[in-house]
Amino acid sequence: MEGCALCPRRCGARRDLGERGCCGADAAVRVARAAPHFWEEPCLSGDKGAGAVFFAGCSLGCVFCQNAAIRAPSAGRPVSVEELAALFGELEAQGVHTLDLVTPTHYADAVAAALRLAKPGIPVVWNSGGYERSETLARLSGLVDVYLPDYKFHDPATAAMYANAPDYPEVALAAIAAMLAQVGEPVFDDDGILKRGVLVRHLVLPGHADESMKALKALRRAFGDRILVSVMSQYTPMPGMAPPLDRPVTADEYELVLDYADHLGIVNGFRQEPGAASAQFIPDFDV
Ligand code: SF4
Repeated sequence: MEGCALCPRRCGARRDLGERGCCGADAAVRVARAAPHFWEEPCLSGDKGAGAVFFAGCSLGCVFCQNAAIRAPSAGRPVSVEELAALFGELEAQGVHTLDLVTPTHYADAVAAALRLAKPGIPVVWNSGGYERSETLARLSGLVDVYLPDYKFHDPATAAMYANAPDYPEVALAAIAAMLAQVGEPVFDDDGILKRGVLVRHLVLPGHADESMKALKALRRAFGDRILVSVMSQYTPMPGMAPPLDRPVTADEYELVLDYADHLGIVNGFRQEPGAASAQFIPDFDV
């Protein structure tokens, strides 16, 4: 067996032999939390919540991570493929609108195997940082209904500085194109829940409003109205962040980005209220 190449880092870790990759993962799939979650976009959470499965570890590893508690290799509890499939079923039985797989990229093969064992009857959402290989996404075809990737950085220098991934903009735009080719344009059910499609999130970072505008322009130019775009203001500074990441986004910065989204004609999606920065978006994890 060759080393792991599930994500664009292609670090080659022999996870099957117990080595840990850059993402922190070894052979075991680790789940940090599985519970209804009410803070996704309304088309995913509805009034009964999204059935969120937060996986431990991350292949992107942003310095400002809002869920840093679950990046540690020891975070969460190990589960087998069968247990993961059972977990999906338990969440569906609680009446949630969607199965929300949060940061699943480094466990893509195990998640796909669990979905093949028992695909839920509710939409399956792949909620990732957008740093994905098209080869890995192809393995999810027919198993994932909704892709929910971030488009975090548009400037390679920012992506290098904050996530050690200078290829992020190019890789993420190619990944979004592959996702769109796989699931197609947005389709909603009668209750407004997204049954199929791609919803791209962009979190506005403090001091980076100009880059946010370039990011939105790139998304608009590449995908037009074929994707949904969610503009987010909830950046919450973690302890120890250096400027400008040591503060929330200002109302002026956020309004500038929203005005530009209007100018681009981006109406197909969601926008957080200004001043949404809050620890309420950070759930308690079983670490
Ligand atoms: S998923 Fe993890 S182990 Fe695999 S290539 Fe990416 S960082 Fe390395």
